[in-house]
Amino acid sequence: MSKPSAAPSIPTIKVSPRGAARLKDGHVWVYRSDIVSTDGVSPGSLVTVADHRGQILGSALYSSSSQIAIRLISHDPVADFPALLRQRITEAVAYREPIIRDTNAYRVIFSEADFLPGLIVDRYDDILSMQILTQAMDAEIVRETLISELTERLHPASIVERVDPRVRQLEDLPPRPSGLVQGEKISTIFAMNGVQFHFDALEGQKTGAFLDQRENYAAAVQYAHGEALDVFCYHGGFALHLAPRCTHVAGVDSSRLALEIAEQNAKLNHAQLIDGGKEIEWIEANAFDLLKDYAYSGQRYGTIVLDPPAFAKSKRDLDAALRGYKELNLRALKMLRPGGVLVTCSCSYHVSQPDFLGMLAAAALDAHRTLRLPEVRGQAKDHPILLNIPETAYLKCVIAVVN
Ligand code: SAH
Repeated sequence: MSKPSAAPSIPTIKVSPRGAARLKDGHVWVYRSDIVSTDGVSPGSLVTVADHRGQILGSALYSSSSQIAIRLISHDPVADFPALLRQRITEAVAYREPIIRDTNAYRVIFSEADFLPGLIVDRYDDILSMQILTQAMDAEIVRETLISELTERLHPASIVERVDPRVRQLEDLPPRPSGLVQGEKISTIFAMNGVQFHFDALEGQKTGAFLDQRENYAAAVQYAHGEALDVFCYHGGFALHLAPRCTHVAGVDSSRLALEIAEQNAKLNHAQLIDGGKEIEWIEANAFDLLKDYAYSGQRYGTIVLDPPAFAKSKRDLDAALRGYKELNLRALKMLRPGGVLVTCSCSYHVSQPDFLGMLAAAALDAHRTLRLPEVRGQAKDHPILLNIPETAYLKCVIAVVN
């Protein structure tokens, strides 16, 4: 059997034995500290990766400034990078065909998990929202290929690029505004599980909505009852789903803008969902303060959802994050009636599922409540987890019935 050789004109980067071991273990990242030489390699290049003895490990995308210096894209030499991009996009679209149900909003491309590191594409009805996270994906030829292939596969009315200025800074890329890269449409209405949402491509957090919770909304509905409180409600994802099953629903968020859109979403669904003039109450507040006040004043609920922003942005934040989660969960548990349902989430990758369950167990003990967990869930199927890349598994959503 002949060994694969490097394609001509593609520079080679050597990695340390530790970097090579990481790739052999199935991860795709090599950190800067494990790079041995990058002589003459320009930012964002496609490179061949070799171990310190010169054995070729695959092809990767190089960043001259990120701590993640290379991201492997293939175990083989890559002669035609645009062709590989096209093939990966076709595969990502095909992967989703059998798993997308009851929605026209889903993640089309999830970076490493679709073997396209540094690229995220979400679909909202006929608008695609794209995020470019690395030097390599920012190259003009790459952008052109992405736009033409996405157009060919999905026929969107428009494609919008959402820019995270902090990411561009970390990648040493020049600033660039968010905006349309194709077409003119910037707003639409999308639907999931029969619930409708407004979408404005240039507003909001993430690429516009929290699509990773889509299946968790549907799961939560099966258990929800009584008076419900959706804490950290954003545009009302959980609250709108729970409304038909609950006697009263209140959504809490610190962002007035988010609540205004939540209110518009409630109007959009009035006819289908919220029978008998049932209104959702939207409360602008700091969730920590509000839960403390409500717990103190003896408020009781049948259902409470906790879906805070990521408390642990890095490993260093883990202890503080767990304290934050515990405080929220403890207060919520104290306010649930017997038989009540807690839907509790964490989107911090650095808080593992065992960490999160351990925190919940400690909160239950402190609250003197017994929890049964009918469901321990994660992110929706269009955000697949790649087994050897733990960073692709980040969302926890636990449904607990409280005695
Ligand atoms: N549950 C939502 C997503 C929540 S994202 C959904 O399914 O779509 C986290 C939300 O928490 C954001 O809307 C943010 O505005 C809000 N937030 C952040 N810190 C907060 C705080 N201290 N109190 C209340 N809301 C907060």
